Amino acid sequence: MAKIVCVLYDDPVDGYPKSYARDDIPNITKYPDGQTAPTPSAIDFKPGALLGSVSGELGLRKYLESQGHTLVVTSDKDGKNSKLDQELHDAEIVISQPFWPAYMTAERIAKAPKLKMIVTAGIGSDHTDLQAAMDRGITVAEVTYCNSNSVAEHVVMQMLSLVRNYIPSYNWVIKGGWNIADCVSRSYDIEGMHVGTVAAGRIGLRVLRLLKPFDVHLHYLDRHKLPDSVEKELNLTHHTSLESLAKVCDVVTLNCPLHPETEHMINEKSLKNFKRGAYLVNTARGKLCDRDAIARALESGQLAGYAGDVWFPQPAPQDHPWRTMPHHGMTPHISGTSLSAQTRYAAGTREILECYFQNKPIRNEYLVVQGGKLAGVGAHSYSAGNATGGSDEAAKFKR
Ligand code: NDP
Repeated sequence: MAKIVCVLYDDPVDGYPKSYARDDIPNITKYPDGQTAPTPSAIDFKPGALLGSVSGELGLRKYLESQGHTLVVTSDKDGKNSKLDQELHDAEIVISQPFWPAYMTAERIAKAPKLKMIVTAGIGSDHTDLQAAMDRGITVAEVTYCNSNSVAEHVVMQMLSLVRNYIPSYNWVIKGGWNIADCVSRSYDIEGMHVGTVAAGRIGLRVLRLLKPFDVHLHYLDRHKLPDSVEKELNLTHHTSLESLAKVCDVVTLNCPLHPETEHMINEKSLKNFKRGAYLVNTARGKLCDRDAIARALESGQLAGYAGDVWFPQPAPQDHPWRTMPHHGMTPHISGTSLSAQTRYAAGTREILECYFQNKPIRNEYLVVQGGKLAGVGAHSYSAGNATGGSDEAAKFKR
């Protein structure tokens, strides 16, 4: 029987919810490319419940215990002697979410001799040292597509918030003001602007589609060109370098995975190619950007605004400069963990576990690493190597 260690974020400070703002959520069974939403044999939770925090347990306890397995759920993941570290010695499966990632570094993997699988309940497995997982023959899987559309909605929300100066204007209301000139002196329409995405995968393409009705000019950078029919439908301009995209875009959004090739792609040097006053929205991974270069670009005016929900490390320490830099619209890492998204990634995690325990193949699209090499979505979108360096800084966060 297996021991499964599941690392989840803390419950709300006021306690696990007894009721919710809404009574139901739409039932999404298919994604835009035809891929089916997760299909576990059953679920033991009500869709729309808070599953991603410790008491929600991803809805897995009943299923796992009924099969005789042991489930350990904790939010204590960073620093010396965390609960996660204490539990690794006999863990067969580690599950965590990118929002509150269990950084599965080579050191941690070495402490877990029985470890067979690392599951990302969500999308983006950069918190695992993929090279170390390959070297040990550990399977890495994620719930591809479960929250891609959720993130795309967040991207569009944050783009509009920055361009229209929403957050400072909202704050004038809270402060009791009616300071129209203060609000609008940084407020523009997005109509007519050039908007580009770095990567046109599931999220990037969704962002392009959502933006089309705003009458903007759409651009994308991706190693693989989209089909001609899609380029035509959305009137897209394809770029083969970040420099070429950045030079023409007023708004840029990052939607590629973090892997050694993409780490710090936005840095002091590449920011010089952006138009002065460009907006940057990054809901992909914090480490795609050089942290201090972003803060400096906002201070100098090279960037007019920066928003997103991803940081490095996570949780971000209190003194992380992105908490206090000017003209930012950051949220904690939430875009992919709406209650709607949680329903899908909890079901997807269960589907992966059912396949694992029944010796059935895990869907190819869920695989990142298998059999000592990149596989499935991993082979398409990631590069080999490790992007977890510096993650021990997460221990600096004080609750
Ligand atoms: P996909 O795998 O569908 O798309 C990733 C795309 O990135 C692919 O099209 C891939 O292109 C492209 N890509 C990879 N490397 C590069 C590169 N060097 N330059 C340009 N493009 C590149 O994934 P999703 O769209 O679903 O998710 C993307 C990322 O978003 C995730 O990996 C994760 O990090 C992040 N994410 C964030 C969430 C949040 O809550 N904030 C939730 C979900 C995801 P190619 O065609 O060449 O393979």
